[in-house]
Amino acid sequence: MTERDIIGIFGTMNAGKSSLMNLITQQESSIVDSTPGTTADTRVTLMELHGIGPVKLMDTAGYDESDVLGEKKRKKVDAALKECDLVLMVIDPANPGLAEVKLILNVSLEEGKQVLLVYNLFSASDEATVAFIEAKLPELKSFPKMCLSALQPEKRAALLELILTNYIPKNNPTELLPFVQPDEFYILNIPMDEETPPGRYLRPQAMAEEYITRHWGFPVSYRMNLGQARSNNPIEITRWESFLGSFGRRPKVIITDSQAMDIMKSWTPADIELTTFSVMMINYMSRGKLNDFAAAVRALDTIKPGETILIAEACNHSRIKEDIGTVQIPNWIQKKYPGVKVQHVFGREWPEPEELENIRLVIHCGGCMITPQRMAARLRDLGKFGIPITNYGIFLSYIQGKNVLEQVLKPWK
Ligand code: SF4
Repeated sequence: MTERDIIGIFGTMNAGKSSLMNLITQQESSIVDSTPGTTADTRVTLMELHGIGPVKLMDTAGYDESDVLGEKKRKKVDAALKECDLVLMVIDPANPGLAEVKLILNVSLEEGKQVLLVYNLFSASDEATVAFIEAKLPELKSFPKMCLSALQPEKRAALLELILTNYIPKNNPTELLPFVQPDEFYILNIPMDEETPPGRYLRPQAMAEEYITRHWGFPVSYRMNLGQARSNNPIEITRWESFLGSFGRRPKVIITDSQAMDIMKSWTPADIELTTFSVMMINYMSRGKLNDFAAAVRALDTIKPGETILIAEACNHSRIKEDIGTVQIPNWIQKKYPGVKVQHVFGREWPEPEELENIRLVIHCGGCMITPQRMAARLRDLGKFGIPITNYGIFLSYIQGKNVLEQVLKPWK
């Protein structure tokens, strides 16, 4: 998975956001039209920016659209604002829309974003009004800025220079499996079921295999028959033992699907460490905040009937039979914490702030289908209400025993 810095282009309708996007990408990534509200949704372009590396550019709808569709658009703009690393604030000096500019800047500062201003000149005389605008909204003076016409291709170099000079890239990818050592074996326990897509591994599994190989380790996959393992079928027990016995050197760590934790807590030999794909993924996507997710699971010790747990799964795959998020985890909650209510969000869905207030705990999947920036935005949203957030792998280990959770955290020291 490529880590990308996210640059969002924001402003009011017709400030020239799409033209700026096209200037950066040097192509018609965005439709440019003087009809207000041309950018119906957030448009995304992936590209490489020399000096920064891989970036995701987002061209957003105008912040000042007021009809019903506009309200929906505005929520998408807010989501983009929370997700991006750099805010490129485009202002047409002739129609500055200062109320909206102020709103965007307030959210940007609250969310800790870096901000650059671009005054987009539709005529040369517009530049003269910049000082007047900054006198009306003095906070504009504190941001690095430039004046240009986004329709002039020769301005691209100066715009990129503004970004390169002032933007501090935030991408600092966390190591996926920091404990991997060269020339050591690592077992990937992958119990395939009806939900497993044909022809490929799930993203966390593929990422783990690639990471171990890239770091000169030896990934070895095992397809556990979970049904047979749970019924203590001697065929599966013998198969597992024979698999473990076939290594000339003991494997270092088993990385398992979290749903197999009820088996793996007792099937893992004492001299091999154990963790889960989900724990690996949430540490990676949250940029090393595994300890916070592990501490948050303690909220279960004091949860009361009637309180609500939100299960957040970043996938939109079709869910069949024993789905982990919609069936297995709710079943465990019902069994261990009767009377506790469960809500779900899937894919990019995320509750509005007013909907978060009643949530007592969030259990999030590994989040491999959203960006680390979106994960960070979710953590900030929850932090504002003091809502703890834990993870599938941590939850499924914890309900097997506190010692089991310690076991899966051990490789992470
Ligand atoms: S988004 Fe979540 S549920 Fe889907 S594959 Fe990634 S970690 Fe698993």
